Amino acid sequence: METPDPYAPCRLCPRRCGVMRRAGSGRGYCGEGAALRLACASIHRGEEPPLTGTGGSGTIFVSGCSLGCIFCQNRQISRGPRGAAGSADQVPSGEALGRIVDAKEFARICLALQNRGAENINIVTGTHAVPALVKAIAAARRDGAALDIPVLWNSSGYEVPETLDLLSDTVEVFLPDLKTLDSAVSERYFNAPDYPDRAVGAIQKMLALRPLRFEKRDQGPDRMVSGVMVRHMVLPGCLESTRHVLRWFAEHCAGRAMLSLMFQYTSISPRGTAPVRRVNKTEYRTVLHWLDECGIEDGYCQDLSPDARWIPDFEQVNPFPTELSIPVWHWRRGFV
Ligand code: SF4
Repeated sequence: METPDPYAPCRLCPRRCGVMRRAGSGRGYCGEGAALRLACASIHRGEEPPLTGTGGSGTIFVSGCSLGCIFCQNRQISRGPRGAAGSADQVPSGEALGRIVDAKEFARICLALQNRGAENINIVTGTHAVPALVKAIAAARRDGAALDIPVLWNSSGYEVPETLDLLSDTVEVFLPDLKTLDSAVSERYFNAPDYPDRAVGAIQKMLALRPLRFEKRDQGPDRMVSGVMVRHMVLPGCLESTRHVLRWFAEHCAGRAMLSLMFQYTSISPRGTAPVRRVNKTEYRTVLHWLDECGIEDGYCQDLSPDARWIPDFEQVNPFPTELSIPVWHWRRGFV
């Protein structure tokens, strides 16, 4: 019996476009064909302590995105320079920066990160490329000096359980966003009124797949080798949305997952209804108070970002500031 092709028709994410991504003409909301395209790979020091450790996180940015937040900081690689998020027929193909890699090159990138001391392989925004990534990670684990560090799934949380099932033998740590539980907010900013239901379903699936586990280290923080860390970025002017997320986390995830609260929102080129300012000190203090009120202790909380210096430029071989990132591979240059 023939195995069904996961890209044709494609229903890998909640957009369920149903397009034939192998046919060459088929592009769905994510804007990507069936070939795996990457933007860059680097040793990243800006993740949470149990992910960054002493060696840094081996971050691999996948081109394209199936969510398309209107304020995306990675717009160059998620949507391309025009950055339009819209319906399937509004998203032009091949616009996002990146280069096609096969499983062999992907394996070489993973091994290069491991050889340079990465604590893990951190796949950023790969939901639309799950089948290719599963195959490529299997190749990295098979090859000569095989990959033996944990694989992290760093995603928007806008996922379906069937696609997460494909990752069950591949990913050790899930790092989903929980952007909001308010469907008016998710409709306005992500064109996805179903985001809250989808993200809650995805996080519950991830919790079922991976229990929390840390590995003791002689130096530096313990390494997270299994489990779920939920990330929530506070949006200026949307504090009730954050309060709802904190309460949901306290009720459903406490003791089973870590929480990472982020305050780095920056509007690099305000469009549509995206907030144009940063989180202010009053909002920051309010959220910290709610964190206490909810009794959430397992996790991390970012400082209030003083500037936007860390916003990446993926045209550059090192898209991030040098103290945050050591480049290993770039879509234009290949290995650095
Ligand atoms: S992965 Fe892309 S083509 Fe497939 S359903 Fe999602 S947005 Fe559509």
